Amino acid sequence: MPELPEVETIRRTLNQLVVGKQIEQVSVHLPRIIQLPEEIEEFRLLLEGQRFHTVERRGKFLRFLLDDFTLVSHLRMEGRYGLYDKLDPLERHTHVVFHFTDGSELRYKDVRQFGTMHLFPKGRELEEKPLKKLGLEPLDEDFSLEAFKAKVAKRTTKIKPLLLNQEYIVGIGNIYVDESLFLAGIHPEREANTLSAKELAELHQAIVSTLQDAVAAGGSSIKSYVNGQGEIGLFQHQLKTYGRKGEPCSVCGHAIEKTVLGGRGTHFCPNCQPLKRKRVRKA
Ligand SMILES: [Zn+2]
Repeated sequence: MPELPEVETIRRTLNQLVVGKQIEQVSVHLPRIIQLPEEIEEFRLLLEGQRFHTVERRGKFLRFLLDDFTLVSHLRMEGRYGLYDKLDPLERHTHVVFHFTDGSELRYKDVRQFGTMHLFPKGRELEEKPLKKLGLEPLDEDFSLEAFKAKVAKRTTKIKPLLLNQEYIVGIGNIYVDESLFLAGIHPEREANTLSAKELAELHQAIVSTLQDAVAAGGSSIKSYVNGQGEIGLFQHQLKTYGRKGEPCSVCGHAIEKTVLGGRGTHFCPNCQPLKRKRVRKA
């Protein structure tokens, strides 16, 4: 599943591919991708003639800003966009096609069919579901240490599920929560209200730097690419704990452990991230 840095990378790539293009018409091959408006015909008619101004992001949602509307798109598990020529054969699992006046097409493919699209009058999308109740945006200037503390410091919930709750902070996602907690030396099962001021500050910094590094790595480790078919893909990224069960910790050499927390696979170093607040580090 693409997480915030991946969606940000996809957003930047899409911005280069579609801004300025005008929609001639839209084809919808799988109606249930379109959540709003209810009538597919209305979705198609509203988009005709609209031009793409910019592509923005809120959490893991892409926001395509058009002349009069905003298209809100969530890729979920396997949704992907690609820019094609209209003569390119339509591949399997292509569910929505935006036909542009210049003969190119933005195609949405989704093998798992979990992705969603909502169309709103421009600006309205922030006041309604699914964007309305979203929490702090961790890559925004507003994500200050004070704002972070106000959201988490007094909660009795375990820190990892709390960081995954989109009503508190958006888009960090399973992989980067594990990486951030590792960097801050905090066990994923610690209760949020047991974290010291220093630990909260380290965790805040770890979240910001983990996400920023991942976005910056758009150049090397999760770099997006556009293949011959115009499809946007992503390279794999370098991770310190996630997916490394049994491998030596890069800091202390202890084996990385894996557990299940709140239904999510959770990776941590029991030495660098003790459940009791005492960090022991070997040289
Ligand atoms: Zn370690």
